[in-house]
Amino acid sequence: MKLKKGIPLIDQHDKNGFWGGKFGGNFIPETLKKPVEDLTIKFQKLRKDKKFIRKKDFYFKNYIGSPTPFIKLENLSNSLGGAQIWAKVVSEANGGAHKIYNATIHALICKAMGKKYIIGDTGAGYAGKMLSMAAKKFGLKCKIFMGAKDIKRQKPNCDAMKKNGAKIVPVYSGSQTLVDAVSECMRYWVSNCDKVHMAVGSTVGPNIFVKICGWSTTQISKELKIQLKEQFNKIPKKIKLINCVGGGSSAYGFWSEFIDYDKKQIELIGVEAGGPKNSKLHAAPLSKNAKIGILHGAASYVCQNKEGQISETKSISAGLDYPGVSPIHCFLKDAKRARYTFATDEDALNAYKIVTKHEKLNPSLEPCHAFAEAIKIAPRLSKDTIIVVNSCGDAQKDRDILKKRLGKY
Ligand SMILES: *Cc1c(COP(=O)(O)O)cnc(C)c1O
Repeated sequence: MKLKKGIPLIDQHDKNGFWGGKFGGNFIPETLKKPVEDLTIKFQKLRKDKKFIRKKDFYFKNYIGSPTPFIKLENLSNSLGGAQIWAKVVSEANGGAHKIYNATIHALICKAMGKKYIIGDTGAGYAGKMLSMAAKKFGLKCKIFMGAKDIKRQKPNCDAMKKNGAKIVPVYSGSQTLVDAVSECMRYWVSNCDKVHMAVGSTVGPNIFVKICGWSTTQISKELKIQLKEQFNKIPKKIKLINCVGGGSSAYGFWSEFIDYDKKQIELIGVEAGGPKNSKLHAAPLSKNAKIGILHGAASYVCQNKEGQISETKSISAGLDYPGVSPIHCFLKDAKRARYTFATDEDALNAYKIVTKHEKLNPSLEPCHAFAEAIKIAPRLSKDTIIVVNSCGDAQKDRDILKKRLGKY
């Protein structure tokens, strides 16, 4: 499996929407073909439209707060010895995580299509919260589909969505979680696609949604490239870019501008959720060698049982608790351009302790999976190696769980 140089990875799919011939695609009902096609044509026009680009850049800067900081974690680096550890503090973005980039782009597309209604699905509630923020900002009516079980588990995010004026639609079918919320959201879109735009919260789903989301989060690596040059006068010789991987939108955004570089110069490391240390449950389809399956309209490595039933996943970080993963990352894995590993719940908690002990940074449990890997490999690396961790979320949202698991925090 080979990557092409000079072409964004989001565009390296075949005419049927597959990356590497087998990941992604459009596994959708006949009735969704037309709205998906309309959205594809519209998005391909918009991404080349200078006026739309100016609008995007304006809101990224003045609403989201780009560029986000790039800082050296000097105390952490000194305490570990070895490589220099830096952080791209994406959690400084409006809303406290990278999901706002995709939500903002979807709201702008919705408006450009002349639609007043936007819908989306959410599991832990962050995708829903960010979409409701963007909907409010751009004057759109917003509906969020959410499993009834998740609504009970994620009250603070539900409250935030309601405060932003979004309507939460509880989904009572199946396991009453994200998987069912996605199906219900798509069903609703089929019958209302004339007036309603649908957003997907990560680089997953039918082909066009992978592309839109990836195009949005690319902003992160565009900024980082400039920041690296400002800091080191050039792109350094030995870099490791470490990112947690749930659906894979923050990792793609963090890496996209660097994929063409030689992997000896810039190593890309994705860290999945290994789940509780003494449990068989996890959310790590790439690093635990899951088989290919079809989930939410696309083929990818998916956590599944022997019969192909989607497995239950488990992770301390709600943002990573997803059985599938972006087709783009499946491709990067098979092309051997990125290396994927996992960190357990305990590893992530321990990383949180270490990072917050040394630095004035408060990374949420998702990026703490990435920090766990950084902490593990840094001492063995040379002083001129630059590790950059995408600190993609703020731990404010994890307050209760951190208190429960770590006591004093
Ligand atoms: C949702 C979320 C993730 C996981 O999603 P990706 O698409 O893999 O980025 C990671 N970190 C945070 C803070 C999130 O909210």
